[in-house]
Amino acid sequence: MTDVAVGGAPTRADALALDAEDPLAGFVDMFVSADPRLCYLDGNSLGRLPKATRDRLADVIDLEWGVELVRGWERWIELPTRVGDELGAALLGAGPGQVVVCDSTTVNLYKLAAAAVDAQPGRQVVVTDDGNFPTDRYVIQGLAAERNLEVRWVPTDSVDGVAPERVAEAVRDDTALVTLSLVDFRSGALADLAAVTEQAHRVGALVLWDLSHAAGAVPVDLDSAGVDLAVGCTYKYLNAGPGAPAYAYVAAGLQGRLRQPVWGWFGQRDQFTMGPAYEPDAGIGQILTGTPSPFGLAAVEEGVRLLADAGITQVRAKGQALTSLLIDLADAWLAPLGFEVASPRDPKRRGAHVALAHPDALAIGVALRRTADVVPDVRPPNLLRLGPAPLTSRFVEVWDALDRLRELVVNGGHRGSGEVGHRVT
Ligand SMILES: *Cc1c(COP(=O)(O)O)cnc(C)c1O
Repeated sequence: MTDVAVGGAPTRADALALDAEDPLAGFVDMFVSADPRLCYLDGNSLGRLPKATRDRLADVIDLEWGVELVRGWERWIELPTRVGDELGAALLGAGPGQVVVCDSTTVNLYKLAAAAVDAQPGRQVVVTDDGNFPTDRYVIQGLAAERNLEVRWVPTDSVDGVAPERVAEAVRDDTALVTLSLVDFRSGALADLAAVTEQAHRVGALVLWDLSHAAGAVPVDLDSAGVDLAVGCTYKYLNAGPGAPAYAYVAAGLQGRLRQPVWGWFGQRDQFTMGPAYEPDAGIGQILTGTPSPFGLAAVEEGVRLLADAGITQVRAKGQALTSLLIDLADAWLAPLGFEVASPRDPKRRGAHVALAHPDALAIGVALRRTADVVPDVRPPNLLRLGPAPLTSRFVEVWDALDRLRELVVNGGHRGSGEVGHRVT
């Protein structure tokens, strides 16, 4: 560790000064931190555990499940829509009755994409981008195989993501659905939600956004942009824990027109009359399928409340400042070591994570976790991804992480690390 400015790089004292001025600094202590030395830069894969969630889950287990038993459903039954409304208001710019929390992102994407193409008979094309998150690409491929549709792939720029002009070229009057991720999971590039939504609508297509790497990091205004459909996960910036349920947004004006393909009893209009035939709920409840998990829903609610208290505008500002510090340090220290910033340099054009390209990214990522108490992740073939979550990261944590990264590579401490097989990177 050094406090001497190298090549004009911000010093550790500069990072500490940013922490001292940070209006969100108090939130860091609201999360469990088992190891004070750990630099956790993977909040974009799995957010930290809020202390409030630990307490709330203990209550759901001991006082609700343990004491109320099946009577607990009197309260649990409302959670998918109540938590959906809270999430929509705090983070998605969505009015009530349009967001529900259930299932995984993958399953919600399938349900909404299928509903969208089924509502557009005569249109055979789904437009998505070739750099989209794997599950999104696979679900669309599967849907196309099942429904005999064509997938039209928009080329993604590996740093700048999807340009609206490329989408404009791809959409025509044969297009049923355009589906993209708002923040690129590799580069962190932020797509132009309003422009792409408008291009889809211009040709009569519906639009479905995956907000997984965006919600809780950047402000999203689904209602005002006229977005039709959206999905996203809650275990990244929403801090709801591994496997927590995802969310789905269906614009109020579309709810009567769409029918999702999994006809489960939780989506039924009068669920407990248990009638002979499926009759979907008239509202967002139709998106539900089977029994949701009250544990997961309680965790989503706590995570959303913390972000609502912090305010998405402040969260966004801190995310930009954290990633700008990271890029300044990477330019000063890591560029001479063969790293390249593979994320947009304009903070307005990126989410809250940064990708650094290096030919030995895998070995470096493994060695950082093993020997330096730094947790990044790696995306093949050559990207080290660093995601300092605005609510849970300190500026000095970013500084320390990059300092250890530089030292590791200077000393060759990563050599040989990439050869060990890892199922999860
Ligand atoms: C994390 C992520 C997912 C995850 O989907 P699951 O069904 O929760 O596994 C989907 N899409 C995007 C864009 C993501 O970033």
